[in-house]
Amino acid sequence: MPGTIELIKYTSPMLEIAQAVVEAKGEELKKCYQCGTCTAVCPWGNLIDFNPRQFIEEIRLGFEGFEENSWKCVNCRLCQDKCPNQIDIPQLFQSVRSILLAWQSCPSELNFALAGIRSQGNPWQEDKEKRGEWAKDVALPEFTPGTEYLFFNCCANDYDTRNQAIAEAAVEILNTAGLNFGYLGNKATCCGDMAYTAGENEIFQSTSAKNMQTFTELQVEKILTLSPHCLNAFKNRYEFEKNRPTSTHLVETYSELVKNEILKPQFEVNAKVTYHDPCYLGRYNGIFDAPRDILQAIPGVELIEMNHNREHSFCCGGGGGGAWLDTVKGERLGDLRVLEAVEASAEVIVTACPYCVQMLEASIVGLGIEDKIKVMEISEILLSSLKQEEK
Ligand code: SF4
Ligand code: SF4
Repeated sequence: MPGTIELIKYTSPMLEIAQAVVEAKGEELKKCYQCGTCTAVCPWGNLIDFNPRQFIEEIRLGFEGFEENSWKCVNCRLCQDKCPNQIDIPQLFQSVRSILLAWQSCPSELNFALAGIRSQGNPWQEDKEKRGEWAKDVALPEFTPGTEYLFFNCCANDYDTRNQAIAEAAVEILNTAGLNFGYLGNKATCCGDMAYTAGENEIFQSTSAKNMQTFTELQVEKILTLSPHCLNAFKNRYEFEKNRPTSTHLVETYSELVKNEILKPQFEVNAKVTYHDPCYLGRYNGIFDAPRDILQAIPGVELIEMNHNREHSFCCGGGGGGAWLDTVKGERLGDLRVLEAVEASAEVIVTACPYCVQMLEASIVGLGIEDKIKVMEISEILLSSLKQEEK
């Protein structure tokens, strides 16, 4: 005869998963009353059969087979903002992921990225000693105590050659505005946001500790970020022991500088432009107006909105570790976003996140519509109106 524990396991083999999720910061699992609003708004519903309401119920009931769907959520928060109970659904997915990681059940691409953050301080496993190489011919001083702003660039902009152009544009704008800023170079390490959203808390804690120690040693008081993910990590996730430095995304800085006429966009950019709201800038941090104010200040820009915009915006597919997952054609959220921009007759998609740039550009190439539309980061379009390109 089986004992009580064996009997419970036999009749409900995975019931312990629900308890484990609750213990892994997933207490909100209990609050769901299965209304289905999250499923109705989740952008995945436009592409695949992915049902967050059902996922939650299956976890609660201890059903098997939830692993694959656990990695689908891109942490876009669209559902959380609409949930009548304001349940932190992205956190529920992170809690489930942390358990899967403990069971060593994680997609190999994500494992690669996590191993890179652990060993080299970046998700591409690039040499940590080469982080600052892109900046050697750029007028970007080292950050030392007393420098007003720390320019925190993001791994994507430090290592990816396409994204380095964004960092170079940002540095040129900040120099034009005369700001006193500096860069950490090889002293920086990944902000750890990707590890956090993948449920890898130990890597997030160690990488955030390294950055916090560097900020403290160098007496950093004000941070400027190019990535909404770095912004959100520093502002909302890092547990500083004493003073938390202020963190500002560069769109807010540019917007202020334009408003105060320190930066004066003057050269025409004649194009129909739409703005893609990165989830971590918009829904997570409430920054919707600043990028639109900048675009409206650029002569020649015709700003048009996509059907899903501002707080209703769709994700590019890069959040929650999605940027590292292999996806098959027909299952890419970036495609939805690009097609929506084309539908709105935009010629340029402007955004303010290094991962959105990568995801949207990959979708444009995948869809074979490079002749119809292109992606620019906000620094790039602003700079093109501040300075005329040398011929
Ligand atoms: S919207 Fe909220 S309450 Fe409704 S099913 Fe989703 S998580 Fe549960
Ligand atoms: S956070 Fe976004 S991707 Fe995840 S379940 Fe909610 S709406 Fe879907």
